[in-house]
Amino acid sequence: MDFIFFGMQGAGKGTLGKAVAEKFNMQIFETGGELRKLAQEDSELGKKIKSIIEAGHLVSDEVVMEIVENFMNHLEPGTFVLFDGIPRKVKQGEMLIDLLNKHNRNYKAVLIDITQEEALKRLTTRRICSKCKTVYPADYKNETCEKDGAELITRADDNSDAIKTRLNNYQTETVPAIELFADKLIKIDGLPPILEVREDAIRKLTPIINN
Ligand code: AMP
Repeated sequence: MDFIFFGMQGAGKGTLGKAVAEKFNMQIFETGGELRKLAQEDSELGKKIKSIIEAGHLVSDEVVMEIVENFMNHLEPGTFVLFDGIPRKVKQGEMLIDLLNKHNRNYKAVLIDITQEEALKRLTTRRICSKCKTVYPADYKNETCEKDGAELITRADDNSDAIKTRLNNYQTETVPAIELFADKLIKIDGLPPILEVREDAIRKLTPIINN
C-alpha cells in the first residue's frame, strides 16, 4: 500500500511522513526536497526552479511529473511509497493516478488537517536544520540541530509573501486535487502535539497498510 500525504503547509506532513515511513518501512518521495536539490544545481533549470520555489509558486507539471515518473521507474519491487508534496493540483492528481494505475499500485490518501491560522503561526516561527532539514517549531529554543549540531535557519520560502502565495495555492489548487481522492481519504487531526498526532496516525494506518 502506498500513501499520498496531503496537508496545508505547516501541517506537519514532513515530520509525520518520516515517522509513518519509519514505522511501516516505507520509502518517502518528497517533491519539495527533490526540487530543492535540483534548485542547487548551477544550470538554467536549477536557477529557474530556485526562483519559483523562493517566490512560493508551483514548479511546472512537466518538471514535477518527470521526477516522479523517473522515481517510479526505478522503484525496487516490494517497496511501499509515501508521497509527500504531490499532487499539488488537479492536473497532477490525474497524472499521478494514471501513473499509479500503470504501475499497479494500491494506494490511500492521508490528510493532516489544521486551520489556516495555525499554519500561518507555524510557518512564520519555524526553523529548519541547514544540513538535515529537520523542522523545529517555535518552542525549540536552541540555535543548533539536536541531531547533527548544524545551524538552524529559516527556509527561504518561509517569508510572508511566499507564505501567502503558498497558502493561497493550497486552497485554490490543492484542495480540489484532494477531492479526486475522496473515496480513499483518511483524515488525521494535525492540531494536537506531534506525538499525539503520530499515535493517531499509526492507529488509523496500521490496519490499512497490512491490507
Ligand atoms: P514543500 O517542501 O512541499 O513545501 O515544497 C516547496 C516548494 O517546492 C513549493 O512551494 C513549490 O514551489 C515546489 N513544489 C513542491 N512540490 C510541488 C509540486 N507537486 N508541484 C509544483 N511545485 C512543487
